[in-house]
Amino acid sequence: MTFPWKKLRSHASVAAAVLGVAALLGSATRADRPYAPSRDYHLENVRVALHFDIDQRKVIGDVTHTLSTLHAGLTHLDFDCAELTVSSARVNGKDAPFDLREDKLHVQLAQPAKAGEKFEVELKYEGKPTSGLYFILPDKDDPGRAKEIWTQGEAEDTHHYIPIYDYPNDRTTSEMILTVPGDWLTVSNGKLLNVQDAPDGQKTWTWRQSLPVSTYLISFVAGEYKEKKDTWHNIPISYNVPRGMEDTIDTTFSHTKEMLDFFSDRFGVQYPWEQYAQTAVYDFVASGMENVSATTLAARDMVHADLASEKPEAADSLISHEMTHQWFGDLVTCKDWTNTWLNEGFATFGATLWEEHYYGADASSYRYWREQNSWMQSRELYPIPIVTRDINDSVEYVGNVYDKAGWVIHMLREQLGDEAFFRALKHYLEANRLQNVVSADLAKAIEESSGTNVDQFFDQWIYGAGAPRFIVRSTYDDAGRKVSLSIKQTQKVEAHVGLFRVPVEVSITTSKGEKNFPIEVSKADETFTFAVDGPPLMVLFDKGDKILKSVDFQKSPEEWIRQLRTASDVPDRADAAFALGLLRDNEAAANALGEAAQHDKFWGVREEALRALGRINSQPARKQVLSALSNDQPWVRAVAVEQLGRFHSDDEIDKRLQNIYKDDKAYSVRGAALQSLALDKAPNSEPILERALMTPSPDDVLQSAALRAMGSLADNSVVSALMEWSSPGKPSALRSVAIGSLGHVDLKNHDITARLISYLNESSFDIRFAAIFALGRRGDPTAVEPLEAMLKTGQVGIGVPHALEDLIAQLKGQGGPQKGLSGADQKNGDAVSSNNQAVLDRLDHLEQQLTDMNDRLRRIEASLPGSKSD
Ligand SMILES: [Zn+2]
Repeated sequence: MTFPWKKLRSHASVAAAVLGVAALLGSATRADRPYAPSRDYHLENVRVALHFDIDQRKVIGDVTHTLSTLHAGLTHLDFDCAELTVSSARVNGKDAPFDLREDKLHVQLAQPAKAGEKFEVELKYEGKPTSGLYFILPDKDDPGRAKEIWTQGEAEDTHHYIPIYDYPNDRTTSEMILTVPGDWLTVSNGKLLNVQDAPDGQKTWTWRQSLPVSTYLISFVAGEYKEKKDTWHNIPISYNVPRGMEDTIDTTFSHTKEMLDFFSDRFGVQYPWEQYAQTAVYDFVASGMENVSATTLAARDMVHADLASEKPEAADSLISHEMTHQWFGDLVTCKDWTNTWLNEGFATFGATLWEEHYYGADASSYRYWREQNSWMQSRELYPIPIVTRDINDSVEYVGNVYDKAGWVIHMLREQLGDEAFFRALKHYLEANRLQNVVSADLAKAIEESSGTNVDQFFDQWIYGAGAPRFIVRSTYDDAGRKVSLSIKQTQKVEAHVGLFRVPVEVSITTSKGEKNFPIEVSKADETFTFAVDGPPLMVLFDKGDKILKSVDFQKSPEEWIRQLRTASDVPDRADAAFALGLLRDNEAAANALGEAAQHDKFWGVREEALRALGRINSQPARKQVLSALSNDQPWVRAVAVEQLGRFHSDDEIDKRLQNIYKDDKAYSVRGAALQSLALDKAPNSEPILERALMTPSPDDVLQSAALRAMGSLADNSVVSALMEWSSPGKPSALRSVAIGSLGHVDLKNHDITARLISYLNESSFDIRFAAIFALGRRGDPTAVEPLEAMLKTGQVGIGVPHALEDLIAQLKGQGGPQKGLSGADQKNGDAVSSNNQAVLDRLDHLEQQLTDMNDRLRRIEASLPGSKSD
């Protein structure tokens, strides 16, 4: 799913995304249990008491399950249980024999159970889990950091800290009793019942979740936290951050209550839980997790107060995504991971719904336009249906259940109309409240509430794969005053991809005004004719971009220019900007783009016009970009500055970039200037980057930009700085960037390779992944052995093993970093033989996919000056 110009080079965010994928879906989940398991019992309540040996990273637990059997004749009760040592089991108060085999704890019953028989099973255990439960403690990189313990249950990791039934297809109430140091705060699900003194200056916190939920949604966070409290309709609201991050609370969470109102109203069902807590944790394995009534967020996604004005929508995308899950995911939960889109597609849709409400329809339609282009370009995602039980590569699966599913729900809304669509959502939520669902439950709710049969829609968009790829040609018959549109569906019809039947609005503007013609397209090749009152000035196919698709529609430069200037919808103007960016020797196109870059009423079109000018890369384009550098919004300005890095280096541009770096008010724009200076290979850029490394900035934005720019400069003069900043002891986020940049410099230097190899053993995933990408970039075969060792650990995340195997095979075949290099390659500082280019492309592609997915939640492009246009 790539937008070529959205490529980000943040290795840290890639690592976070890899982990996010792993955590959200779990590598075993898809492969081993595509179907929900049959159940022996229904879990009614889970009461779990935990305390910790913090220095030993050990959890000590006592869990009591209340359950009732679902069929007769059971001789034992099974619980999922991994990385835990169970010391005792009691059934209805009596000791019971038990054994642990292959992550299942079998507890013997005294005699075969009857159907519907109730049991209380108490288990005592302890363990040092490596997933499910995480201890974040001060270390040499960050000796002063706040201590934290937090959990991540999805997909199936709760059983790494509680022996439990660990699949979504059952729901239980729960009690979480946490004994922690007296000055710590805890956050868990539902309602805080009490906090009591415990021995050794500790305190015991008791939480109760009184409505039943799937066990992956059980969670807690405990640690040295600062809390801000509020209420919403008498429900406690809290915002919790690690001590030291208090400044981020207001800039990150300020829209929470308004969002709760908005979603309660829009979904037609009041927010259903007893509190809403949002808690930021360090080193989180995703950007956010919708634990029931207690969302966990990544501390790195909190918005620094000094950077808030540089981000178009703060952290709203993430906050609204997780909040939507409180209805779609938590109140109504997918029955198995095959139906994850019912969680993630709706959360993605909900975030854009909030964006439309708060930031306007231009912002949301621009987001859909970008996601469409990115998704349509992904050859891996295209042939796979949203619902499939036959998936080997979960990375691709994730791309469909988030982005494509969000788009599909958006289309459903367009086709049903708001009144019927939102009534259907309300009915779906009410009919399936506190239950687990499959896709058919949604189709049924829509039909029941609106009478509309959506079977065909579901067949092509949910159970079928792909999307239409149109070729459209328009002709005008002056004598008959008719416009004819020839429309072809050119996607290859095979496997899960068919011909699409879609409603499309055709808009034709003449000198007398605009007329809209609704049509239904369903054939491989068809022609529609429209009566008009004069020669067409502008013809739009799918006005406003309501259908997920790609379109090849040939138009004259004049038509595109008119469309850029006058089309009412953002996607149509953005399409025109893109098309004009392909016209290299057309000064009128450059001028029109320049005008749009400065004056289009929506910032996204201004950005697209700037990117188009960057692609044109001519003298007139250069002039237009220079004129657009004073754009009000910092994120638009950053895009303009990025384009300057694409033009041939000259003194004027270098001077402008240096001044922007010195004077711009926005850190992200200053960072973009560093990156462009480096890409220009501007003289003197190395000392400027060195100085930037010493310049303090919020969230280390400038330092990070300087380190990234050093990689783009790819000059041996920056090696010592990159080596220093890659070392343990420097902030982890900056280390990751420095490591990434080491992939681009002094490629014959085996000391760099050796250093990168040493980072493969570090505990931090961010560092390890940055090192993998950098080693791949360098093409050095001494990396083979450590990469193979890393692959064997199995701890590399979904999608990564394939890329790692390819990389290893290629490095083996290559024989040495110098081999296979042309003079030109070496001059470019790029150790890429054509031989391993395919591997690098694959690594880049993986990086791209993961980054884009992460970006979906994080809106980081505005804050990452290193994002590189193409
Ligand atoms: Zn989600």
